[in-house]
Amino acid sequence: MAKRLDPTTPERLENEVEFDQTLRPLQFEDFVGQQKIVDNLKVFINAAKKRGESLDHVLLTGPPGLGKTTLAYIIANEMGVQIKSTSGPALDKPYNLAGILTNLSASDVLFIDEIHRMNPLIEEYLYSAMEDFKIDIVIDSGPNARSVQLNLPNFTLVGATTRAGLLSSPLRSRFGVTSRLDYYPSEFLEKIIKRSSKILNIEIKSDGAKEVARRSRGTPRIANRLLKRCRDFAQADKKLEHSNNIITKEVAEYSLKALEVDELGLDDMDKRILTTIIEKYNGGPVGISTLAVAVGEEPGTIEEVYEPYLIQEGFLKRTPRGREATELVYKHFKLSPGKLAPTQSTLFNQ
Ligand code: ADP
Repeated sequence: MAKRLDPTTPERLENEVEFDQTLRPLQFEDFVGQQKIVDNLKVFINAAKKRGESLDHVLLTGPPGLGKTTLAYIIANEMGVQIKSTSGPALDKPYNLAGILTNLSASDVLFIDEIHRMNPLIEEYLYSAMEDFKIDIVIDSGPNARSVQLNLPNFTLVGATTRAGLLSSPLRSRFGVTSRLDYYPSEFLEKIIKRSSKILNIEIKSDGAKEVARRSRGTPRIANRLLKRCRDFAQADKKLEHSNNIITKEVAEYSLKALEVDELGLDDMDKRILTTIIEKYNGGPVGISTLAVAVGEEPGTIEEVYEPYLIQEGFLKRTPRGREATELVYKHFKLSPGKLAPTQSTLFNQ
């Protein structure tokens, strides 16, 4: 499927790797929200440090853009160790994994993003590495092939996944700590936006930050992205010259309108899911597999990446007979049951 480029997609866009890094907090102190997870991690880190041991393996799950990578870096920083970062799909050969593992020092963090996309063969190798800090690799091939066991330093694996449901149970059971990150309430996003605006060197008024936060789909990555785009408008749009490079509520509203950001921050796939339920299935209930085919996305991705937000915000209901759109959807898209505004079909049915 083509990559969605709308400004409220929670996934990291290709050109955003550096941007994410610039704004990434390096200490718990600057990490906003997710209090329970942070409090627990602090205890585990302090305990490990006191004992002079490595931290237990940590699994971070949750939708994209909520701070999994950020937490992995903070863990390493607070432990005072190095971090090596890779991803499930990048680890395609056993020797890639062996190469990374043998280069770690004691207590270092190995961060594997998208760990659910790891090749099952590599996963097998990871089991003994995680459990016994040993790895058996086969060298040479044919009649000369032999297995060699390598001892590894006691490292900490931090795995991140948006699709916890796809993780095999042997892998899942090898993590000592599992935390699920949740969407951020608006006031926390506001705090993140204010902190980021200082780093990006742009002044933002409280009501401007509120407006951006409200439309960020509970996701820090989106909040930061929208802030950056509002900065562009504040600094370069002739119609906003009177704002003196400050993001006021007016500037935020103007910019978000120009970017076609939904009033509630829904992204294209959210809209597609909701309007499909209404247009094609009369508001539901519709089974998840049927819905998935209709919107062109995997059922699991809908369940784990999109639905949680739509359910939390009261757009969608999960019933034993399938998914149902709530009244809020009709109101938000200005639709009435059984009758559709002509623009909606053309807007989201492409
Ligand atoms: P994920 O790995 O879950 O996709 P990231 O850790 O890459 O998300 O976070 C995306 C962006 O959002 C980063 O630039 C990061 O700085 C910011 N961010 C995420 N969570 C927080 C938070 N709790 N406080 C401040 N900034 C955050």
